[in-house]
Amino acid sequence: MHIVVCIKQTPATSNVQIDPKTGTLKREGMAAAINPFDEYAIEEAVRLKERYGDVTISVITMGPPQAEDALRDAISKGCTQGFHLCDRAFAGADTYATSYALQMGIRKIEMHTQQKVDLIICGKQTNDGDTGHVGPGIAAWLEMPNVAYVKKVEEIADGAISIWRMMEDGTDVILMKLPALIAVVKEINEPRVPSLKGKMAAKKAVIQKWTADDIAADKTKIGLGGSPTIVASSFNPPPRTGGLLVTGSTPEEKAKNLVAKLREMKLV
Ligand code: FAD
Repeated sequence: MHIVVCIKQTPATSNVQIDPKTGTLKREGMAAAINPFDEYAIEEAVRLKERYGDVTISVITMGPPQAEDALRDAISKGCTQGFHLCDRAFAGADTYATSYALQMGIRKIEMHTQQKVDLIICGKQTNDGDTGHVGPGIAAWLEMPNVAYVKKVEEIADGAISIWRMMEDGTDVILMKLPALIAVVKEINEPRVPSLKGKMAAKKAVIQKWTADDIAADKTKIGLGGSPTIVASSFNPPPRTGGLLVTGSTPEEKAKNLVAKLREMKLV
């Protein structure tokens, strides 16, 4: 079985600052790490390798040169090999252009390894762009089925995958034909810490770097120029102001005081 895990290197903080002038992320001096949800995608792939034995895990990222560190981290946790889409032509991509480039990269991985891809695993979303579009976008380009919010892989057998999808009001159990894509939530597993052996393997690993030409990307579909979305403005939400504390010695008195306050404010 051949699994591809898509990972993005993102700021290692949830307190992402945006430059009000350019509307882009302030990345200077900001530590970067594997997007938190992608850690669960890596772990699930490694667990499937442990469960089913004959599994190759290819990990792919599209990002600047330093994103190579994320690929090495993934290899230290048990992924087999890393692929880096790295070219200025990819910069400024929205989710359409990102998913286009990644699916072209995945096609190239199939050619390079001579191994058809059976399963693609993504995180639910990133902690910077935060859209959750990229996984389903890749699946659409590759014309394969996909399921998001996956919290359990029950079984892979007879060319199909059985999964549990987390819903607000319960769980859907879905049987989906392979090849397919899943986007996972944090409830799916507990990511491991890399072993010393893993770290050594990651240090020695040769990361395959590909440009837009290498993956035969259509230049009108990549980077800023190939992105149909325009970010008109971006800003951090204003800090929350202090709330009003409704007091009372009993729950009934608190409820009465709350209603009185709402009346005073002409809200009821
Ligand atoms: P998501 O769709 O949230 O990611 C889901 C999963 O896809 C990830 O967990 C990972 O498994 C995979 N994945 C995502 N990116 C990569 C990657 N580079 N390499 C490998 N795997 C990956 N996009 C728009 O379309 N329109 C906008 O208006 C827009 N505004 C933005 C504004 C800001 C300030 C920022 C920081 C980003 C914005 N983006 C927007 C998204 C941006 O273009 C993304 O960096 C990129 O397209 C990926 O989208 P995402 O981060 O939302 O990923």
